[in-house]
Amino acid sequence: MTLNETISAIAPSVTLAITSKAKAMAAEGREVFSFAAGEPDFDTPDHIKEAAIHALRDGKTKYSPGVGLSELRAAIATDLNVYNGLDYEASQVVVSDGAKHTLFNIFMAMLQPGDEVLIPSPYWLSYPEMVRIAGGKSVFVEAAESDGFKVTKASLEAAVTPKTRALILNSPSNPIGTVYEPAELKAIAAFACENDVMVVADEIYQQMVYDGVASPSFASLSQEVYDRTITVNGFSKAYSMTGWRLGYLAGPMPLVKAISALQSHSTSGPTTFAQYGAIAALQGGRECVAQMRDAFAARRAYLYDRLVNMPGITCVKPMGAFYMLPGIGSYGMDSLTYAEKLLKATGVAVVPGKPFGTDANIRLSYACSMATIREGMDRMEGFLKGV
Ligand SMILES: *Cc1c(COP(=O)(O)O)cnc(C)c1O
Repeated sequence: MTLNETISAIAPSVTLAITSKAKAMAAEGREVFSFAAGEPDFDTPDHIKEAAIHALRDGKTKYSPGVGLSELRAAIATDLNVYNGLDYEASQVVVSDGAKHTLFNIFMAMLQPGDEVLIPSPYWLSYPEMVRIAGGKSVFVEAAESDGFKVTKASLEAAVTPKTRALILNSPSNPIGTVYEPAELKAIAAFACENDVMVVADEIYQQMVYDGVASPSFASLSQEVYDRTITVNGFSKAYSMTGWRLGYLAGPMPLVKAISALQSHSTSGPTTFAQYGAIAALQGGRECVAQMRDAFAARRAYLYDRLVNMPGITCVKPMGAFYMLPGIGSYGMDSLTYAEKLLKATGVAVVPGKPFGTDANIRLSYACSMATIREGMDRMEGFLKGV
């Protein structure tokens, strides 16, 4: 049979190759220390689960409105207002099956064939694939490790063309943990306004920040910035709800309407009883998030300290999310070879940097236990002595 050209060109995930190898090793009875997780290792807090269970028992098992339950959209608008100082109406919110789905919808609704999207690199590996599926073209804006992997107004200006429609801004970021400072955000905002570029602000890790750094919503910078920003967030990372599949956007009405129509013919509304869990997440306070963040903070401190004390390893200090992207360039191996050798020799599973746009780095997630981090780092240190 013949396949759709765009879809068959989607790059298969290199990440999956390593994680399936790690799983096979574990199945053979070998000890595996995995730093590959892309999701928090905590269970969803009880009050959230209880709300979904209650909703199920209460018969909330039918279709929800295509854009999500109005109670949930209102709770999201309130949350964005209270915590992020953003003035969205509930009608400007669309709930989808995870923030990944939200992002997918945005590119499908926004891009025309050949439209360019600026993607700071290293990047989250799904962005370019989504842009490609939507018929757009990714333009990578390289950010050097020596610059903390941050793009600047100047580097964005060097990449902009008359076809540039949007910029994806992911702060705090996956795979680096970069958090842009308010002054840096302002410079990026000036770029967007001067060049008439929309900003897709993926703020999924917003609550996972450390050492008291601020991570304001991009849309909160000014009215002009608000008008050209699509705020994206979700429940997966902050509330450890990855399997619930709930994410959302808030943004300009024309986009909301387009996505509402798109969703009405594709997925329809997200799972109804899950949305009741999400309402409880937003209304239950952020104490549970703070507890998870404290655990991440302790792991981050330890892992960072271990990495930067290993010979030949460099590492940008992450200020948010739960990833680090250490540089392995001095070992003269590409990231996939490095990850495969490390796994085979020590049972330590890391994700190669290549699919994130950097072949001189590996990604370590610290969404794993402190015991895994300790033993994993001992083993990686031993491995490095031998190469
Ligand atoms: C995990 C993640 C998402 C989306 O997660 P969902 O589970 O689909 O809500 C979006 N952006 C980044 C950068 C992520 O790491």
